[in-house]
Amino acid sequence: MEERKLLFHIPSTSIFECDPLTQGILDALRSGEHTPDTLESTLSGDFASESIRSALNDLQSLAVVTANAVDTGVKTFEPLELKQIPLTTVVLNINTGCNLSCTYCYKEDLDTPQNQRKMNYDTAVQSIEMLINESPNQERYNVVFFGGEPLSNFALIKRVIDYAEKRFQGLGKKVDFSMTTNATLLDEKTIDYLNAHRVGIAVSMDGPKAYHDRNRITVGGQGTYDTVEKKVGLLLGKYNSRPVGARVTLTTGVTDVVAIWDHLFNVIGFSEVGFAPVTSGDIASYNLQPEELGEVFSGMKQLGERYLDAALENRNIGFSNMHQLITDLHEGNNKALPCGAGVGMVAVDHEGGVNLCHRFTGSELPLLGTVTEGINKPQINEFLNKRLDKADTGCATCRIRNLCAGGCYHESYARYGDPVHPTYHYCDLMRDWVDFGIRVYSTIMEKNPGFYDRYLAGRRAG
Ligand code: SF4
Ligand code: SF4
Repeated sequence: MEERKLLFHIPSTSIFECDPLTQGILDALRSGEHTPDTLESTLSGDFASESIRSALNDLQSLAVVTANAVDTGVKTFEPLELKQIPLTTVVLNINTGCNLSCTYCYKEDLDTPQNQRKMNYDTAVQSIEMLINESPNQERYNVVFFGGEPLSNFALIKRVIDYAEKRFQGLGKKVDFSMTTNATLLDEKTIDYLNAHRVGIAVSMDGPKAYHDRNRITVGGQGTYDTVEKKVGLLLGKYNSRPVGARVTLTTGVTDVVAIWDHLFNVIGFSEVGFAPVTSGDIASYNLQPEELGEVFSGMKQLGERYLDAALENRNIGFSNMHQLITDLHEGNNKALPCGAGVGMVAVDHEGGVNLCHRFTGSELPLLGTVTEGINKPQINEFLNKRLDKADTGCATCRIRNLCAGGCYHESYARYGDPVHPTYHYCDLMRDWVDFGIRVYSTIMEKNPGFYDRYLAGRRAG
């Protein structure tokens, strides 16, 4: 990194700044094989023998330097055999119906309001009981309301919150609620209720009117920006129990990350803005083209530079994708799997079928169980082990394997018809993004480490 020599240690997701001796050892080994003795004599003009041996030992204990040139330090695959799924989160698809008709929507079980299929109360209660039965030893649980549009089944949300609050309190456990909404059905009463129960809210909004109205339209084909802007104004004016974030879907023609962030953060006033680039939706014409995906990542890096500038002034500009990457680096997160789907989280469809995550409800991927029968552990183990076994994949030696872990199952499923296939179609961009994140992270660490105490500790606690 410019004049600083940083070492990204893949197995522990740690970043080390190399001192001149460590750099000397690495340079010497890069130019050819050495024994400890030849290394020592090469470097003895500048460093004491004892220091050279000690630094070499440190590098060996980290598997940065190995005794055997073919030993890459990559851990061999150990099959997972979960007897209990450590679930903390259940996503409830409480209505397949949506009052909007966003052109790019990926939901395979999406219905128009006339054909909507709502989850009933018994299924919702059974879902919560399944969460407790499958994973009774957690301190904190999450119930997520998803759709279609979850607020089109607000009556069920209220009954479920009432049930869950009492049930978890009786167990001496905590429960949090959250939802992703298109915001169009919000009114003062609804907002007050959600605020009183600390429901975490993410609003789907795609930026300024010209972008938002391109895809986020009513069933009748009208743009929804004006309605959403008004409702979000009402929401942000009142909501004080949790920060409210925006979730942006980037599709073909909607790629200006900086302008979209600027509008949603500075003009509308969201606390966080997260971007989801669509590369493999069902409707191919909405997928970002390769050159557009390049534009998106370049926009993410421009916004990342702003994130960095603000962080050096101890401000957080709410760019969630960057903030998540920085958090992963700061916490040394080492992901064998890309996300919590099927492990910490499952999604229940309106009929009580258990799916990997909210994106799979209504898909042809076999169910993982039902809320009444529970989760089929052998099936989950088999699925997870297929992704965990990185032999013969590009992921085995990829430098970001412990951050990417092969990418989103649903992206792979939509693109390759196989959820365990790695998301090879944007590996180079992902690696470049992580390299960029390492630069941002280490610059903040060098110049304003207090940023992490202020913005990351709070995030963990929250
Ligand atoms: S970037 Fe590509 S090769 Fe690397 S871990 Fe992710 S999917 Fe695998
Ligand atoms: S599989 Fe993809 S969409 Fe589903 S939770 Fe994981 S990252 Fe998210």
